[in-house]
Amino acid sequence: MSENKSSTDEHGWTPIKDGALDVAAIRADFPLLNTPFHGKQMVYLDSAVSGQVPQPVIDRMDHYQRFEHTNVHRGVSTLSQEATDRFEEAREKVRGFLNAASSKEIIWTRGTTEAINLVAQSWGRANVQAGDEILLSAMEHHANIVPWQMLAQERGAKICVIPMNDAGELILDDLDTLITPRTKIIGLIHVSNVLGTINPVKEIIAKAHAKGVPVLVDGAQSVPHMTVDVQDLDADFFVFSGHKLSGPTGIGVLYGKKALLEKMPPWHGGGSMILSVSWEKTTYIGLPGKFEAGTPAITQAIGLGAAIDYLQGIGVDNIAAYEHELLNYATEQLSKIEGLRIIGNARKKASVVSFVLDGIHPHDVGSILDHDGVVVRAGHHCAQPVMKRMGVPATTRASFAYYNTREDVDALVGGILKVKGIFG
Ligand code: PLP
Repeated sequence: MSENKSSTDEHGWTPIKDGALDVAAIRADFPLLNTPFHGKQMVYLDSAVSGQVPQPVIDRMDHYQRFEHTNVHRGVSTLSQEATDRFEEAREKVRGFLNAASSKEIIWTRGTTEAINLVAQSWGRANVQAGDEILLSAMEHHANIVPWQMLAQERGAKICVIPMNDAGELILDDLDTLITPRTKIIGLIHVSNVLGTINPVKEIIAKAHAKGVPVLVDGAQSVPHMTVDVQDLDADFFVFSGHKLSGPTGIGVLYGKKALLEKMPPWHGGGSMILSVSWEKTTYIGLPGKFEAGTPAITQAIGLGAAIDYLQGIGVDNIAAYEHELLNYATEQLSKIEGLRIIGNARKKASVVSFVLDGIHPHDVGSILDHDGVVVRAGHHCAQPVMKRMGVPATTRASFAYYNTREDVDALVGGILKVKGIFG
């Protein structure tokens, strides 16, 4: 598939040109979407939990394992040098995908969670002292709360929160007073995994920088759905997971500005990250290896590179526009169901609809839909503070990707009507 470039509409979305997204051809690439599930065609509406993986990505990892594999960054063998080249090519693909200035700014991690822990432990321990403040938003995933709480507890620092309104939008009127002289860093989710809200991260970063405060952006739910340019955002740190991007599990990325990463101490110690080791003293190599102790997830990194190729082949702007229309359709159809309340009605949303049904627990909704072949997530979505703020114990969440269709939405609606019928 070749990338389709077109200008954006008045809302900033690229309109879909006829045939820009050949969803039937795309779906044919996904073995799991074409595997019978409870005797039916699977309707996978849980891409926010993990994206499905297309055959070219599976094939690329299979080929690497069969014909190219050994360890990287060690040994002079041709095999090792070629494996290292493939591994570093994947890093370069991530650099291009995020428009980072240098591939030295791309650190492999196991995922978003590990990337945030790396920053909290390495940058955080070096910079956060007793009485300092760490500012997070009210809609963070636990992955961007708990590592900071652990650091705050250790250091005697304080967690502060940017509030949100009932629609699920951050209230930014008081941001200037929330960022105090004690604020050391801001942790901000780009797209909420529960509410679908797209946060104005560029504006928040500009305000933070005006006060000399760096910002870590959790991009786990943004990179699969929109073009991200870390230089344009001016993000100090940006993190994401491969498995939400149609890549494999076990691989993720920490992007960090070189000037910040260079000053940060290593987090994990071991092989591959050292220049010299003696009983008296160890010295470390530079970026990015300083943060990559031990054997990395080579196959997965190469798989993530293939996933980026796959998405760029479709065109990330085309994906964004297609999913935007699908989300509008889903919102419209679900809103017609009596007793269904959508949780999260921000003006700018991506890819996610969370809802509750009057008198029916989300776990019951999820289980009945599952038997109907419709895969959704039910629960607190690793965001208990969001549940508390919205006054619900849990939600059912349908999340969309570029391989979903209006028929999938119709199946969801049919399933919900069935649930309502059962609970009468
Ligand atoms: N942040 C957000 C917004 C997420 O949606 C997720 C996963 O659901 C994470 C962080 C954690 O990602 P991982 O479990 O891949 O580390």
